[in-house]
Amino acid sequence: MSEIDETVPSIARVYDAILGGQDNFAVDQAIARQSQEIVPEIGDVARFNRAMLGRAVHAMASAGIRQFLDLGSGLPTVQNTHQVAQAVAPDARVVYVDIDPIVMAHGRTLLAENRNTTVVTADLREPEAVLSHPDVRALIDFDQPVGLMLVGVIHHLGDDEDPEGIVKTYLDALPAGSRFLLTHFCASSPDALALEGALLTSLGTGRFRTLEEITAYFDGLELQAPGVVYLPQWRPEGPVAEPLTVGQRLMAGGLGLKH
Ligand code: SAM
Repeated sequence: MSEIDETVPSIARVYDAILGGQDNFAVDQAIARQSQEIVPEIGDVARFNRAMLGRAVHAMASAGIRQFLDLGSGLPTVQNTHQVAQAVAPDARVVYVDIDPIVMAHGRTLLAENRNTTVVTADLREPEAVLSHPDVRALIDFDQPVGLMLVGVIHHLGDDEDPEGIVKTYLDALPAGSRFLLTHFCASSPDALALEGALLTSLGTGRFRTLEEITAYFDGLELQAPGVVYLPQWRPEGPVAEPLTVGQRLMAGGLGLKH
């Protein structure tokens, strides 16, 4: 696994910069600024995503899920998966997986006192390696329902990388009763497509897919209400004014149940 390189932008650090975090460098800040020029609400979009993660992890834990596999987990921020899950169920176990070594560097400090949570540095495009990783197996019992999370990360896989096949391999490894949480950039406006073009150029990744394409990742699962929707519409805590803004429509997601 490569070391932290301050001269090459990283998805985890760009996202951290967009969220207003401190763990990013000039190359990352430049992409965050460029994204904000195209979609001025981009900071809100990242916060919608974190808020959806919080609501969905709370829902999964409330439904009895006690183990979470959070793939492409990102740098620790507010409302991390283990904090939300363990607030509902203190015995909930969480494995964070991220390709970027900076996540391990920061996660270790946060998790030093938490024996039910761990960070693994791995590439989610290699599902067999992730699923058989000893640190994953140490906390996740694949005979019990799992909360599989791909939040804000599948859009960093190109069409030529078989994202559907990768998701399916993870889902096939899970028992009935497992949940699947997905959020994804959505091709919902000309500004969204402009941001896709800019990210593909500057970061080399960032694929905006249609609502139909995002819904297809849930094939074979029972989609939980309200289905695949723009993030602020997913079980909102208060009224959401219509029509939604470009930023509110920039990402969509949903929660599926495996039978
Ligand atoms: N899941 C968090 C959230 O939604 O708030 C973080 C999302 S962040 C935009 C995407 C994360 O996925 C980054 O931390 C990045 O390093 C990670 N990532 C990208 N490609 C990956 C891969 N192939 N395997 C594992 N992690 C990956």
